[in-house]
Amino acid sequence: MGEDRRPGPPFFQESLRPVTYISTRGEAASLTFEDVLLRGLARDGGLYVPEVWPVIPPETIAAFAGKPFAEVAAHVIGCFARSSVSEDALLAMARDAYGRFGHPAVTPLVQIDRNRWVLELFHGPTLAFKDVAMQMLARLMDHALAGRNQRAVIVGATSGDTGGAAIEAFRGSERVDVVILFPEGRVSDVQRRMMTTPTDANVHAVAIEGTFDDCQALVKALFNDLAFRDSINLAGVNSINWARIVAQVTYYFVAGVALGAPHRAVSFAVPTGNFGDILAGWVAKRMGLPIERLTIASNENDILPRAHATGVYEMQGVVETTSPSMDIQISSNFERFLFEASGRDAGYIRGVMGALQQGGRFELGPCAVPFRETFDAGAASEADVADAIRRTKAGSGYLLDPHTACGLVALERTEAQSEVPGIVLSTAHPAKFPDAMERIMGERPGLPQRLSSLLTDPERFPVLANDVVEVKRFVAEAARAAPEGVS
Ligand SMILES: *Cc1c(COP(=O)(O)O)cnc(C)c1O
Repeated sequence: MGEDRRPGPPFFQESLRPVTYISTRGEAASLTFEDVLLRGLARDGGLYVPEVWPVIPPETIAAFAGKPFAEVAAHVIGCFARSSVSEDALLAMARDAYGRFGHPAVTPLVQIDRNRWVLELFHGPTLAFKDVAMQMLARLMDHALAGRNQRAVIVGATSGDTGGAAIEAFRGSERVDVVILFPEGRVSDVQRRMMTTPTDANVHAVAIEGTFDDCQALVKALFNDLAFRDSINLAGVNSINWARIVAQVTYYFVAGVALGAPHRAVSFAVPTGNFGDILAGWVAKRMGLPIERLTIASNENDILPRAHATGVYEMQGVVETTSPSMDIQISSNFERFLFEASGRDAGYIRGVMGALQQGGRFELGPCAVPFRETFDAGAASEADVADAIRRTKAGSGYLLDPHTACGLVALERTEAQSEVPGIVLSTAHPAKFPDAMERIMGERPGLPQRLSSLLTDPERFPVLANDVVEVKRFVAEAARAAPEGVS
């Protein structure tokens, strides 16, 4: 565990000490878990991280064996949230959230080779791993807002998976209205229908006549209008929200323990876009889970593997691939790792993030060595992805989706001689990307039975111009009440 040699924040063994949160840019006030949950981004532009990293002792990790997923989730999330939320409340939320998954194990492991496993994270309502965190996030937000007698409006832009996961998670919420903007004609049918078929009055999917970047710019404009933002208590649920990261730590523990942790180490390869999911793996390791190798897996949008190899983090144009949820230019959550790797040097973070914004690149400098010691990295070409899907199907009968295939390719490239079990995180069900799968395998995978009505249910969605005034008007109407005092 290379990173433990470097200076870092103090650790504490399990205790009832509340965890407070500090910003990676060092110029925003410390907050509680609930404040961080509701706020998302810090006011200084940074991301929140816990002031100390909780540690779970090996005996407690061993005792996770055989426990229901929801119980492990309540314990793991409780390590970060106990200043704000009781473990009983967390357990009730986790049971409710994970009871909606299509598999009793919630995130089952499937063996695909002698010492290789797939961790299926796609048994939630929208067939992608984002459900695991979003279902919990919705319940945490409702709980926090109820305690404050407040309401909130969530506005987000989606290129596919996040919007559906947010709409499914918040549908029927008493305290939250959700508006998701998606680029008209540029998401898959399955992805669009997951957003447009729910009938609940508090969720709204809106097609924008524009691109995903236009949608993001509209959301940013709404957040930058501070008077508007405060008047309806605007909140965000994108992957920089700390509560989403924390909720993803659970399945690393569940999978690790199933394959012998804490007595035996495991390795993970993680399909990566915004660095959220792999950061959760790093957090699990930091909390005491014995992880030998943690491999960053990219598609052809390979900013992280390039930075790993060269020490220079440099933006390039986005190329479209068969794994669209990883088609991103920069990985926002990387800032959280850099903060730790630099010895929590907020000045360094401000410097490199300023350089990135101005010139599109920065040198990792002192962080290059800890980055390489902590992670492996590999990028899969489109040909690699197709090949991995075909070989795995031929060898084991198992059908990988293109995102998961990137994970397998990266694992194969970085695997050591060791006998440690290798686990590939499967972030999506192949039926979510039927066109890509058809091109690679010659047929479209069928949707799971529980989604059989998705392709025939009536859709409902307005189409709006790429215009801030029009979108603002729509959001204001969707907001059912003022934030304070009414419910
Ligand atoms: C969002 C997503 C990813 C990338 O996850 P990050 O947390 O952004 O790294 C990978 N695969 C799928 C299917 C996704 O939806």
